[in-house]
Amino acid sequence: MSKEIPYKIYLPESELPNQWYNVRADMKNKPAPLLNPATHKPATLEELSQVFCTELAKQELDENDAYIDIPQEIQDFYKMYRPAPLVRAYCLEKALDTPAKIYYKFEGNNTSGSHKLNSAIAQAYYAKKQGLKGVTTETGAGQWGTALSMACSYMHLDCKVYMVKVSYEQKPFRREVMRTYGASVTPSPSDTTEIGRKILKEFPGTNGSLGCAISEAVEVATHTEGYRYVLGSVLNQVLLHQSIIGLETMKACDMYDIKPDVIIGCAGGGSNLGGLISPFMGRKLRGEADYQFIAVEPASCPSLTRGAFAYDFCDTGKVCPLQKMYTLGSGFMPSPNHAGGLRYHGMSSILSQLYHDGLMEARSVEQTSVFDAATKFARVEGILPAPESSHAIRVAIDEALKCKETGEEKTILFGLTGTGYFDMYAYEKFNDGKMSDYIPTDEEIAASLANLPKID
Ligand SMILES: *Cc1c(COP(=O)(O)O)cnc(C)c1O
Repeated sequence: MSKEIPYKIYLPESELPNQWYNVRADMKNKPAPLLNPATHKPATLEELSQVFCTELAKQELDENDAYIDIPQEIQDFYKMYRPAPLVRAYCLEKALDTPAKIYYKFEGNNTSGSHKLNSAIAQAYYAKKQGLKGVTTETGAGQWGTALSMACSYMHLDCKVYMVKVSYEQKPFRREVMRTYGASVTPSPSDTTEIGRKILKEFPGTNGSLGCAISEAVEVATHTEGYRYVLGSVLNQVLLHQSIIGLETMKACDMYDIKPDVIIGCAGGGSNLGGLISPFMGRKLRGEADYQFIAVEPASCPSLTRGAFAYDFCDTGKVCPLQKMYTLGSGFMPSPNHAGGLRYHGMSSILSQLYHDGLMEARSVEQTSVFDAATKFARVEGILPAPESSHAIRVAIDEALKCKETGEEKTILFGLTGTGYFDMYAYEKFNDGKMSDYIPTDEEIAASLANLPKID
């Protein structure tokens, strides 16, 4: 007999993880090394330390240590908003009339409104410990910038955020949250950097892109004494910090003898999905259990399902190390009608390798169907989900409806990464029936991939 499952499972404080889990340690095929963009040789710790904090550069390169201690100060900060609840979606199950059991791990319970704070606080901590004055970063939708502003104000670090121009204009409240936490926010491309000025000259009136904002932030970090660049997704170190999501979830599942059959997450750069699945993937890699993992991405930015597995630049300005990953090409920009986030051209190299090895699946979904799922979810489970998270909701609902047809009582687990209060423009479009879908053509993707760097 299994114990009755509560609506919400909160781990007791004494059970909170005190180590992160590094899934690379259990991977037979390790992710390919980062390459120096100039020499195409594997990036060394010394080279990476010029861009990233030294401790974070070490974590980036560490593929052997399965567990890495979470410093006490970070554990203490986590306690302000963690554990995140593992919720049994009883109301959604009932609404769908499915025999499936649905669970979600909710990461939206902090001011940044997403899981990004889990890595922001770690990165700010190591920057402070290294004696830095501040950090620079980019933000697209704004969640990462907000999370980093919160973490920097806690650690007394300066924080310079380059915000993709279209979001800067569409989400003034996000910007004000960041400023409230003491960050400076600059719309990108801007005239404060060389690369920004170059892009503005070439594409006057551009809406900006993540790749471009990254280049500006890196330029400022590498040209300002006492500053480093920090990134909120894609990198190995970020997946490591986000493993807190999966570790808590796994403990909660074990406590109540919950055995997920399917684990689903939305995938932009891969950090929440990587964090959620890592410990479960570890069990799968060690042959202790099996799970079906599904990455969900927008049909308008389909890096896993339609991209190439190749070395590519992480940024438009081509200053960051090269990474081997599923990519649409660093110049790829989703069509302007795309509203749902997850617009990065590449994918975590860890997830890329796992996908390449057939250990994880991927699906792409169109945004109107994503907002349809978001609305269904909001109406029965109470939480107004972020558009990004709603990609996972879409596929969780699809899987639950399949169970209704087959009568299977599968256990479905998905990551609910955040709330969508700052995305009401997108919801408004959907509610007005004005949201459209766009799927890039094969020719468009091929044209973007033609610019991949040539690596022998
Ligand atoms: C940033 C973000 C994502 C996507 O980023 P990943 O690195 O792929 O996890 C998903 N959901 C929310 C709410 C976000 O803020």
